[in-house]
Amino acid sequence: MGSMHTGLEEHKDDLKALAAYFAARARGGAGLMVTGGIAPNRQGWLTPFGAKLSSRDEAAKHRNVTSAVHDEGGQICMQILHAGRYAMHPFLVAPSPVRAHISPFKPWEMSPRLIRATIQDFAASAALAREAGYDGVEIMGSEGYLINQFTVPRTNRRQDEWGGSFENRIRFPLEIMKQVRQKAGKDFIVIYRVSMLDLVDDGSTWDEVEQLAIAIEAAGATMINTGIGWHEARIPTIATMVPRGAYAWVTKRLKEKIGIPLIATNRINTPEKAEELLRGGFADMVSMARPFLADPDFMAKAQAGRSDEINTCIACNQACLDHVFKRKDASCLVNPRACKEILYAAPTAPLPKKQKIAVVGAGPAGLSAATELAAKGHEVHLYDASGEIGGQFNMAKRIPGKSEFYETLRYFAKMIEKNGVQLHLNSRVDAAYLINQKFEQVVLATGITPRTPQIEGIDHPKVLSYIDVLQDGKPVGEKVAIIGAGGIGFDVAIFLTAPKLASGGDLEAIAHYHHEWGIDTGYTHRGGITAPEKETSPRQVWLLQRTKGKIGDRLGKTTGWAHRLTLKNRGVQMWSDVQYQRIDDAGLHLTVGGESRTLAVDNVVICAGQVPDRSLLEPLEAAGIRVHLIGGAKEAGELDAKRAIEEGFLLAERGD
Ligand code: FAD
Ligand code: NAP
Ligand code: SF4
Repeated sequence: MGSMHTGLEEHKDDLKALAAYFAARARGGAGLMVTGGIAPNRQGWLTPFGAKLSSRDEAAKHRNVTSAVHDEGGQICMQILHAGRYAMHPFLVAPSPVRAHISPFKPWEMSPRLIRATIQDFAASAALAREAGYDGVEIMGSEGYLINQFTVPRTNRRQDEWGGSFENRIRFPLEIMKQVRQKAGKDFIVIYRVSMLDLVDDGSTWDEVEQLAIAIEAAGATMINTGIGWHEARIPTIATMVPRGAYAWVTKRLKEKIGIPLIATNRINTPEKAEELLRGGFADMVSMARPFLADPDFMAKAQAGRSDEINTCIACNQACLDHVFKRKDASCLVNPRACKEILYAAPTAPLPKKQKIAVVGAGPAGLSAATELAAKGHEVHLYDASGEIGGQFNMAKRIPGKSEFYETLRYFAKMIEKNGVQLHLNSRVDAAYLINQKFEQVVLATGITPRTPQIEGIDHPKVLSYIDVLQDGKPVGEKVAIIGAGGIGFDVAIFLTAPKLASGGDLEAIAHYHHEWGIDTGYTHRGGITAPEKETSPRQVWLLQRTKGKIGDRLGKTTGWAHRLTLKNRGVQMWSDVQYQRIDDAGLHLTVGGESRTLAVDNVVICAGQVPDRSLLEPLEAAGIRVHLIGGAKEAGELDAKRAIEEGFLLAERGD
């Protein structure tokens, strides 16, 4: 289980929530786990008062983590991470005073004395980690943090013994590696994370990556882990549009060059993909981080041949990375228990009284409520008007780059079967039916209806809803205006502009992704990047919003920029400060920044948000039935699957 910062590292609870989180993953069979980044000193903090291990007092708290993991038969390494110029505090340091465009602060240049002291701090932190009971440490040498800042000309402009030539630039990591090994002892695991692809200008050449890895092995590392992409890189490296295993090729390139175990990472989220990479000789080990948030029992299920029961990480980042970037604790969209293990022991004991409960709507909210209520022993009947479970996820899964959403539906289908939910598809139910069936409680998860904006000509035949396009497959012309640039507007734009791939196979998807984002698999340029290939879109599309400012500003922090770049590369016109006037045979008439325009489009697709569907609430309550509203039926504003699934889960968890 690879390193991932969750925010639990910063809790002032003697790391008990962190201990419960890792204990659950150890119990679920993860072989070797690595904590989120822990700084070796104050300057290395990611954020003010962030996680750090530089004293015996701090080490004592980590004992709670290591003993909880060992009690469950697991093993755990602590990652030592010095943020360098990525630190979100004003005392940040770096080899040279070069500010990162994603940081508000310019770093202080490290003096040679400070460099030597920092190396000792890494070694001291490793020794303390050993004292705290860790089985090893991982030295974070990638993702653009301090060590990586030393190794490349982009951020190392020094002319002394720590900069200039390659030998000088890698002196810092090699000294750290040697001193960590010396201080922590021979029988201690030391993983070194090499930045195999920086994905930024003036990063490493392939020869430099290779030479660094060989030197790190010689300096005493136990294993080498793969690091991909600096945080400031403008290439998505783990988001859902990145095909599975898209970076295994770079790990494989190093395979013949080193003798110690080599670990592959990034967008490996199923046991089958992991096995495929191991069998194909891409790596000796596979590291996954988010998949263990999504399912702590990932390994146990895989080992027992029950991989169809794994709750798969869909790489959405919505509840993990997006939370961490907002300085909130991480959790998981598909598993609301994640990082709250101390609150919700899974699964809880059955309720004293079994009840007959109807859940109306098999979208994410209803699926979550029904499967969790049934797991607690209730008689649960799940109804959906449609012929398949999933609600709006059945549209989401059709968006190119979102095929992972199929996995969530596969998981829920399995849980319906396993937990004994009685599923009634093609069954649009009304209040009279539910009253007649004598349900003790009814959960309304009936979702939403799309909002129809009041625009003259909204009934014109060229107007389509996103449901017409994504669900009903209605034909769409070559020139299209999309009204509304929320999550769905963006997805519709991606759907309408996606180039057709010939085979639809995994290898083609990976090759397309490399070309689309300018990933230089020949490694002819520093940093492994080249110019992205211009995409040819089958349509000309305008994506419109009324609000002024950046388009799609409310999209996820870690993925919104990638969606915008994708559409820009496909020539989509993204306009804000728009007022809609009318739709007629000539097209869509509007003003942009007050200036009148007519878009001569074939179709106008409406993605103007949603309103709750609560039509069953009143008659059921009037009949004295206890009704719960969850998901879109409760509130459509700011609705997403994270909220829908969590509300279903919490309803069952409350147990009232
Ligand atoms: P819904 O998914 O709308 O499900 C409601 C269900 O109730 C439907 O299946 C309907 O048939 C059924 N129903 C209604 N009335 C009755 C009745 N009387 N009897 C029987 N059945 C009934 N969210 C994210 O978090 N991340 C994303 O990346 C994302 N991408 C999306 C992409 C697209 C294209 C779309 C359309 C949505 C996306 N969403 C995404 C939003 C997400 O899918 C919704 O927030 C979520 O589906 C809401 O869940 P829900 O269960 O409340 O409602
Ligand atoms: P949304 O994000 O609320 O966006 C609705 C859009 O419609 C906005 O751009 C809004 O912008 C516009 N709009 C609202 N009222 C309008 C009106 N009366 N006339 C014209 N335009 C109007 O909702 P959504 O796109 O329907 O998505 C629904 C939910 O699914 C959202 O919560 C979203 O987060 C989630 N989702 C998430 C993703 C993801 O990738 N994370 C993807 C898809 C959906 P203006 O008011 O500025 O015009
Ligand atoms: Fe994976 Fe999304 Fe869960 Fe993060 S929130 S672990 S990306 S499914």
